[in-house]
Amino acid sequence: MKRLAIYCGSATPADPFYLELAREVGRMLAERGVGVVYGGGRLGLMGAIADSALAAGGEVIGVIPQALVDAEVAHRGLSELHVVPGMHQRKQLFTDLADGFVTLPGGTGTMDELWEALSWAQLGYHADPVGLLNARGYYDELVAFWAKMGEVGFLRAQHRELLIVGETLEQLLDAMAAHAPTQPIVRMAARDL
Ligand code: AMP
Repeated sequence: MKRLAIYCGSATPADPFYLELAREVGRMLAERGVGVVYGGGRLGLMGAIADSALAAGGEVIGVIPQALVDAEVAHRGLSELHVVPGMHQRKQLFTDLADGFVTLPGGTGTMDELWEALSWAQLGYHADPVGLLNARGYYDELVAFWAKMGEVGFLRAQHRELLIVGETLEQLLDAMAAHAPTQPIVRMAARDL
């Protein structure tokens, strides 16, 4: 994995743990020579990860819709900043530019991005690993819900391994590197769906 799309919150939680986590992830990715593709913002965890990766000599590519540039939340010091018309083009570019996805703690926008990466993997629009950094148990309920979808039968057995969970970045990157593509829906027979 040479470049990872990083999804994380644009907010700054009161607990400094989260901003510190983003800084650590940015630095570690830069030290490993892994480029960051992200939403191009300067605020919250997004800004923290970009700043720390850049400070450690890493490549950071932002992809941001025009409306957010107009709202002055774009980071102006990135290796590259792609300004796109809207969210659809933004997500397509995340998928085109990166060869894996990592989700850190975040809110609604972060969840939208994570679930789209999972849904597109399940369909077969990409075959890249989708990782969730469950730092300090922030995503425990989401991981439990993923298991429940499988138990009830809304998540097919072939796709249960699509969500790769790690409690530390090292653990997560190792698991993502070992990821084997699963059978996507576009290559399944209708009778098996
Ligand atoms: P949220 O988790 O709701 O803070 O949303 C963060 C995710 O949505 C990021 O990964 C971004 O791609 C996108 N996003 C939401 N708000 C912003 C913002 N102010 N600047 C840039 N991207 C944002």
